Amino acid sequence: MSILPRRFERIKNVLNCRMKNLTVLVEAVNKPHNLSAILRTCDAAGIFEANFICEKDEVKTYNSTAQGSQKWVKLNNHETKFSAVSELKKKGFKLYGTTLNASSTDYRHFDYSGNTCFVLGAEKWGLSDELISKVDESIFIPMTGMVQSLNVSVAASILVFEAIRQRQSKNLLPFNGEGLSPKEYQNTLFEWSYPELASIYRKSGREYPTLNHYGEINKVVNS
Ligand code: SAM
Repeated sequence: MSILPRRFERIKNVLNCRMKNLTVLVEAVNKPHNLSAILRTCDAAGIFEANFICEKDEVKTYNSTAQGSQKWVKLNNHETKFSAVSELKKKGFKLYGTTLNASSTDYRHFDYSGNTCFVLGAEKWGLSDELISKVDESIFIPMTGMVQSLNVSVAASILVFEAIRQRQSKNLLPFNGEGLSPKEYQNTLFEWSYPELASIYRKSGREYPTLNHYGEINKVVNS
């Protein structure tokens, strides 16, 4: 059965604003509600994919806080911190590690309009020393309260939406799908519109069919 036209329009509107050049890398955050809240922020901000470090066969779980956002934000699970960092750097991301130490800089001093990845640490221990030594810049959100730190998902939201604010002020936010490659756009449009069918196609190694203007699947014409 075809997707309803209204649903297809909504999916396209969301996908049109997705961007690949803003992301987060989350290390060892293991409380489901925090992971869920971070993903929900990513979805709300138009982030196409988020990165998690999943060492020792940990399985990331999400709870109702995610509100289904895990379906709309692609998750890259990295087996080690080193593979995560090297992959993101290879893709051209500048890594901003969040640390509360004295050598960290106020997050408002940087320009986040280029390829930006915010690196967030665990609830209890913060970012590991290994990751701190690998990031390009260390940043913090200034606070004046009695408590030493923010909740990790709150910190993620503040940083991500600062990047969005900066990009908006420079007219750099995508609105017509330009935040993704055409192939990625088409594939994601199919996956979001027909998730079960997409999974069948992936399993059989076949390319997804194209969709017409109304979201109906184009018939393959055999020559
Ligand atoms: N004791 C830990 C430390 O010293 O980093 C506190 C960890 S904090 C609860 C969890 C994560 O939230 C941090 O690793 C960081 O990613 C983020 N975070 C919390 N407060 C922050 C702030 N003021 N500035 C930047 N990031 C912050």
